Amino acid sequence: MVHSESSVSSATVVPCPQCQQPSVFAPSNRWRPFCSERCKLIDMGAWASESFRIQATPPALDEGTES
Ligand SMILES: [Zn+2]
Repeated sequence: MVHSESSVSSATVVPCPQCQQPSVFAPSNRWRPFCSERCKLIDMGAWASESFRIQATPPALDEGTES
């Protein structure tokens, strides 16, 4: 059964759990069900820390760096 719709096929759009904006729930969106990396990090930070700090890159540790 092929159900043709006027919208884009094979693309499910769900509201972002963080910002409620349309988010493409597809393999092309690696941050699904979030709309972006930012929202995912915010959500992760929300329970990992009380502060909404966004760390795109983890802090470099001096541990093990002996030269
Ligand atoms: Zn979002």
